[in-house]
Amino acid sequence: MNTFSMIIDGKNVGEGLPLIDVINPATGITVATVPDGGAKEAGMAVDAAYTAFQKWSKLSAYERSTFLMKWHDLIDLHVEELAKTMTEEQGKPLAEARGEINYANGFISWYAEEAKRIYGETIPASNSSKRIFIHKQPVGVTAVITPWNFPAAMITRKVGPALAAGCTVVIKPAEQTPITAIKLAQLALEAGIPEGVINVVTGDASAIGETWLQDTRVRKLTFTGSTEVGKLLMRGAAETVKKISLELGGHAPAIVMDDCDIDKAVEGVVAAKFRNAGQTCVCANRIYVHESIVDAFSERLVDRVKGLKMGNGLDEKVTIGPLIDEKAVNKVQAHVDDAVKKGAKLLAGGKPQTGLFYEPTVLVNVIDEMVCMQEETFGPVTPITTFKTEEEVLERANDSIYGLAAYVFTENLSRGIRMSEKLEYGIVGVNDGLPSTPQAPFGGFKQSGLGREGGHYGLDEYIEVKYISVGL
Ligand code: ADP
Repeated sequence: MNTFSMIIDGKNVGEGLPLIDVINPATGITVATVPDGGAKEAGMAVDAAYTAFQKWSKLSAYERSTFLMKWHDLIDLHVEELAKTMTEEQGKPLAEARGEINYANGFISWYAEEAKRIYGETIPASNSSKRIFIHKQPVGVTAVITPWNFPAAMITRKVGPALAAGCTVVIKPAEQTPITAIKLAQLALEAGIPEGVINVVTGDASAIGETWLQDTRVRKLTFTGSTEVGKLLMRGAAETVKKISLELGGHAPAIVMDDCDIDKAVEGVVAAKFRNAGQTCVCANRIYVHESIVDAFSERLVDRVKGLKMGNGLDEKVTIGPLIDEKAVNKVQAHVDDAVKKGAKLLAGGKPQTGLFYEPTVLVNVIDEMVCMQEETFGPVTPITTFKTEEEVLERANDSIYGLAAYVFTENLSRGIRMSEKLEYGIVGVNDGLPSTPQAPFGGFKQSGLGREGGHYGLDEYIEVKYISVGL
């Protein structure tokens, strides 16, 4: 078993502190420990990031870009090791973990390029003896708080643009998955990214969060996690009027129209639902299938779902891993029990297995009054309901406090465009179950969050716009 340290100002920190176990959810075995840090270490990290900011922000965009590319290339050399670490602490199958490392690294290379394109502007003045210049500057020290479901990508999608813009960061990874984060930070140091630019603090989430919220040197908070904690942080950030980006819960509808290609729709729903055992905020959570094709769709979906192999993600044949903890298993079971009690029929799965595994599940005869149609399940459950018309399904799909991702399956291009425009969601996949990619903006409407990550929009979140008016 390995003992890891926090990384503050380029040094290993945490000796003598109590330790937190990092547990493999597939086996229940402790794979590593990290220090149980708190307010003191959170403060030290801000000191380091604040000092490092003075130099990092003054480098040329080309210099920052070169550092980011060196980090990217080192991560590329360590894909296997990082993927194994991720599978051990998070549970996702190795192929998915490799995919995540490559996806995560895509944010670093994309923003290494984009660092060079943070252009300013000149605006014609109304008075001929004045000049108006728009200059872009980094926001400053950025606090990064991330969840366990994407231990690498949730970090690089924030840290990539932050560093490109000239910000420095203090990171608190999820308590379940700190090792991937620490290894990424170690590689950044190895790549020559100066000490203090990336700091990682582990331990007491609320003490660390509170310290960062109160510190006026922290100018920006970027968070991915539950809506509940997001609201708490938003309130806390108000005190010092920090800039905030929030990626919160989702409750994605997948709409399968009668004019879809059923095979394509089944593949899309499987991809959008069962990735990471259903534990992503863009997972299809409610499946609306046109009543005329529901039997054909359900039958093919069940065949496909029965072909998924559940187990320890380190086994290359495994395609679906465990859930993160017992609370997650209980929530999934409660959603399934509620649905069955109210009249849903199980076509596959429906039971937990030894440990933290839950069988890939398909439910039909689902109605909107069931809990699984109202709350994010965050597990491998596919509730199928039927609809008659496009208008009806759009209204039901939009009837949610969330607005992150939605999916539509149709071979009719006009309908696909029309429906995607009417869906109140930040991301719409039309015949695409996996729309996330570094160059496109990811983010939600309504209570799914604020701001965007990815693409040039993602960089704006770390930039202050300065207007300079010059009288000649
Ligand atoms: P999840 O339900 O996915 O675990 P959370 O919102 O609880 O989502 O956690 C996401 C991240 O937020 C984690 O890194 C967690 O430690 C952190 N977190 C939880 N509570 C707080 C808090 N009060 N202040 C700051 N960070 C917190």
